[in-house]
Amino acid sequence: MGDIRGFLKVKREPLQCRPVCERIKDYHEVMTMRPDVRSEEQASRCMDCGTPFCHWGCPVGNYIPEWNDLVFHGQWDKAFELLYATNNLPEITGRICPAPCEYACVLGINDDPVTIRENELAIIEHAYSTGVIKPHPPKKRTGKKVAVIGSGPAGLAAADQLNKAGHSATVFEKDKRIGGILRYGIPDFKLEKHIIDRRIGIIKKEGVRFVPGINVGVDYSVSKLKKEFDAICLAGGSRVPRNLKIEGRELAGIHFAMDYLTQANRRAVGEKIPDSKLIDANGRRVVVIGGGDTGADCVGTANRQGASCVVQIEVLPKPAECRTDDFPWPKHPLILKTSTSHEEGGERHWSILTKKFIGKNGRVNKIACVRIDSSKKDTRPCPITQEVPESEFDIDADLIVLAVGFIHPEHAGLLDRLGVEFDNKENVKTDSNYMTSVNRVFAAGDMHRGQSLVVWAISEGRRAAHFIDKYLMGQTNLPSM
Ligand SMILES: Cc1cc2nc3c(=O)[nH]c(=O)nc-3n(C[C@H](O)[C@H](O)[C@H](O)COP(=O)(O)OP(=O)(O)OC[C@H]3O[C@@H](n4cnc5c(N)ncnc54)[C@H](O)[C@@H]3O)c2cc1C
Ligand code: SF4
Repeated sequence: MGDIRGFLKVKREPLQCRPVCERIKDYHEVMTMRPDVRSEEQASRCMDCGTPFCHWGCPVGNYIPEWNDLVFHGQWDKAFELLYATNNLPEITGRICPAPCEYACVLGINDDPVTIRENELAIIEHAYSTGVIKPHPPKKRTGKKVAVIGSGPAGLAAADQLNKAGHSATVFEKDKRIGGILRYGIPDFKLEKHIIDRRIGIIKKEGVRFVPGINVGVDYSVSKLKKEFDAICLAGGSRVPRNLKIEGRELAGIHFAMDYLTQANRRAVGEKIPDSKLIDANGRRVVVIGGGDTGADCVGTANRQGASCVVQIEVLPKPAECRTDDFPWPKHPLILKTSTSHEEGGERHWSILTKKFIGKNGRVNKIACVRIDSSKKDTRPCPITQEVPESEFDIDADLIVLAVGFIHPEHAGLLDRLGVEFDNKENVKTDSNYMTSVNRVFAAGDMHRGQSLVVWAISEGRRAAHFIDKYLMGQTNLPSM
């Protein structure tokens, strides 16, 4: 531990964001980097506790106290080596991870936690800017071939690890470009796409092969896949959206969040969308249904497209602003999150149920809602929700975005043709070695775990790679997390 009194001298200072009036006019990243010296100061706040709960809170098990100490001492290259040992995509998690580690930081018990995510970002960007990151192809090849299906964070992490172990990894992707939700879901104002391209450039030079534009199971048969590869890693995500099957759902102007965000991301890089398919918030009264992170991304996108007003509604009650007894430290608490998109405009309302969509000439122009009371409790853990009598009201809206989550991966196509079994949530079921019910076929990421976080997808990809290597070689040196 570098500075034993660091946390007493230095206050938490998160990264600054560009002013709202500036950033709302473009799609560039909202966050700005800080000078290294500020990160060194922030790293000095880490107390190097005997039992680092942050490490427990991080799904990839980052060596947080150790690299904080190295940063404090200006040993940036060593900090990078340590960070890279556990995380294949720190430039991504450093930008968009909700940082469960910080909720488990011991300093957070009675002070503000260490800026762990920002320190992680500082380490990796320092390594890029000083040229420390270079492609390191494996010295020996095993002669084994592995197909990774899906190029989101789970597929990228799995392929990177398998390649490091000397296997020839081929990543198939049905979209035109590599990255999964990182590319087509998460907006540029949170993650500019050249950050993904920079990483893919390195992984490619290290020997991973990328095959975009191929829907495996449809354009590339399952029998060919099984014949050509020694093992298969399914990392296709979980993309079947939850629908709101209520009166008026068929009206024009109601879209799933991923359809809206994918188009917006395509347009941000200059792709033309035909007018007949265009989903544009310009001049429209937008209602985003769903109070989570995806909903927040839709709010930020609608504001940038020039929506006349944006309202986000959520059926659950407003979460507490700080930890409650239900979520004692170091548990990841359910608390109110205000994203940079919320700072940019619009209203948020909780405890509101959408009853029906109302339209005129085939297009939605308002939604009928009712207020919900969730205060009643019984012995069951789930809240009892009741409509508040005579609380019905309408919200004017001519563009509605449904951001109410995803139910499970698409079964039609690859999964059905492979014949893998599903768990009780309809995700791909595996044994404790990440192998599905079909021999030689493994699964990782949202397709296996259900909709989750980027850092969990990376963790899953790494774990699957560990077990694939073990299966192929009889033993493995790849870490198990
Ligand atoms: C809008 C949105 C915003 C989010 N924001 C955050 C955030 O800020 N922070 C965070 O931590 N998490 C966030 N998440 C969650 C996170 O993005 C996901 O948990 C993560 O991307 C899952 O990674 P994955 O690799 O399992 O799947 P995905 O990223 O979904 O990638 C799967 C890929 O597989 C491809 N594929 C599927 N089937 C086939 C096939 N048969 N052949 C070829 N390719 C196929 C798909 O096209 C896709 O590209 C967000 C999610 C959404 C939807
Ligand atoms: S990956 Fe996420 S949880 Fe892990 S150290 Fe980084 S910010 Fe924290």
